[in-house]
Amino acid sequence: MSESPNILVIISDHLSPEVIGAYGDLRGCTPNIDRLAAQGVKFGSAYANCPLCQPSRASFWSSRYPHETRVLSNGRKHVNGPLPDDLRTLGEVFSEAGYRTIHFGKEHDFGTLRGFERVASDPRPSQEEPHPAWPEHGDTLNDNGTGEVISEWLRNPDRQPFVAVADLNNPHDICGWTGVNQSLDGPVENVPPPMDLPSLPNNFYVEDMAQRPLPVQYICCTHRRLAQATGWTEENYRHYLAAYYHYTYLADQAVGNIMDALHATAAGDNTLVVVMGDHGDGMAHHGMVTKQVSLYEETTRVPFILAGPGIPQRDEVLTEPLVSLLDLFPTLCDYAGLAVPSPTRGASVLPAIRGERDRHHTYIVAEWHTEWGFTVSPGRMVRTRQFKYIRYLEGESEELYDMINDPGETRNLVPDSPYSAVLAEHRQLLQEHLRETADPFEELEVQVAPCWRHHAPGYWNHTGPAAPM
Ligand code: ZN
Repeated sequence: MSESPNILVIISDHLSPEVIGAYGDLRGCTPNIDRLAAQGVKFGSAYANCPLCQPSRASFWSSRYPHETRVLSNGRKHVNGPLPDDLRTLGEVFSEAGYRTIHFGKEHDFGTLRGFERVASDPRPSQEEPHPAWPEHGDTLNDNGTGEVISEWLRNPDRQPFVAVADLNNPHDICGWTGVNQSLDGPVENVPPPMDLPSLPNNFYVEDMAQRPLPVQYICCTHRRLAQATGWTEENYRHYLAAYYHYTYLADQAVGNIMDALHATAAGDNTLVVVMGDHGDGMAHHGMVTKQVSLYEETTRVPFILAGPGIPQRDEVLTEPLVSLLDLFPTLCDYAGLAVPSPTRGASVLPAIRGERDRHHTYIVAEWHTEWGFTVSPGRMVRTRQFKYIRYLEGESEELYDMINDPGETRNLVPDSPYSAVLAEHRQLLQEHLRETADPFEELEVQVAPCWRHHAPGYWNHTGPAAPM
């Protein structure tokens, strides 16, 4: 690796590995991400620390869990912050080390982009008229501007080393798609898209919904996007998937333009590129759309791709090690030869890439708290190599899944006596984690009005509005 390498971090909001060719998808929506991934490594077991934008972002910019950053929701100040005094951010560490640190596009960081010069989103129209099945909202228009502005910047790079961030919204425009689009005659989910409809996943139907934790049974009552999907047919869900692929394609096109700009000068040859999501998308698994509340694979697992000088090229998706987005900050410090500030919770993935360490993390933890503060139903996920254990305080509910034999998380093993030792082991891991990170999880309050738990379990039984934004 050259001295003082540049770093380009490309974030795609809502991006699931499931739609990326390099991770095995065959629809061909991500040729640019695939090309980049073919030159480096792609982690297959990387997890966000919260399935929601702002808490996830605050965590990976500081390498601290949401309960430590105190950024627990998407935007209500009475729930979030203040940031702790000892919180150090990626932007601070690199700017103090002499890097030009510059961020383009979506922020939603609650102050954890501290140390970055920010270039705000500048919405610009798309070059092509969008198909009526795939209307474009602010997410796409802002990405048009972000892609153009960072590309202009990359074509005239600084002499000093840089950390540049291209923070793209898409495929987040799927949220606007799910809501009613006023410009169309009918619900957009009924407009046939110009592509073969993707199939529904095997775990679309949840047979045992009444046995799932209360916050999962009633996501529709606390998240307006799932409430908006109430009454959808199987075909509507397939239209949703087609739209999700399309918005992913738009993100990938932006990645292609940004990579062309990066490699327009010699600086590109000395640049580590990271491509990652901030959380996933339900993608009709468990009947879910968008994200939030549930800690299943679809909402917590994210792509995490590294390519650049010194990063070996690996054809296969690395299912091991388990990676947390808390690892981003220490990994970039390691790559640039900078000391990792304390306290941080993640660890550099570079030794694992080089085969220098067998075990990276024994387990990964993700947290759930609330979207806006109107319903608070705290949960924790502990993901080990074979199992996933989830616990919500509401109703004292637990889930345990065998991720090797049941990757779709269809059978909760908590009531099964053959798994009692595994369950005990994972309960203990959670307790260990709570102690080590001073997580007050056990003392947190559940705040859910009865009106958000009133109908028969399951999204298909939802009536009325969802909790207010
Ligand atoms: Zn409901």
